[in-house]
Amino acid sequence: MTKKHLTDGEIQQYVLQKEECDIDIVEHVQNCKTCKIKAEEYNLLFEGIKQQEIPVFDFNLADSVIEQLPKSRYKVSNDKSFSYFIFFISLFSLCIIFYLFRDSLLSLFKEISPILVALIVTTVLCLFVILCIDMYRKYQTQMKTLNFY
Ligand SMILES: [Zn+2]
Repeated sequence: MTKKHLTDGEIQQYVLQKEECDIDIVEHVQNCKTCKIKAEEYNLLFEGIKQQEIPVFDFNLADSVIEQLPKSRYKVSNDKSFSYFIFFISLFSLCIIFYLFRDSLLSLFKEISPILVALIVTTVLCLFVILCIDMYRKYQTQMKTLNFY
């Protein structure tokens, strides 16, 4: 039996987790009247806390918080229309280039050997796939850093 009385933390541990408690603490509580009374008081306190009702909001907390958040300064629709505009401009210019230089482009592919064309197409496809995978990985790491809670 230890000579000093137990601390409040040790007595709380004795009351809440008797099985995992140190044997010295258990023996001290069983032999010391002061600490036994303290343990009984803590036991009464914890039982009183357990009998309390769990507080629950009678309104939707998430909705009321979202209502008070400031609105986003950027308009999503403007960004989308701008990207569509860029896409159609580039598609239009690509069509014009193919239309104006169609004869020279066709002769270019006729003059190059088929194995060279296959190599070029394979290289472009591989680059495209690698860039897409890289972009997707970057997106996933950014989403992970955003979802930290
Ligand atoms: Zn004691």
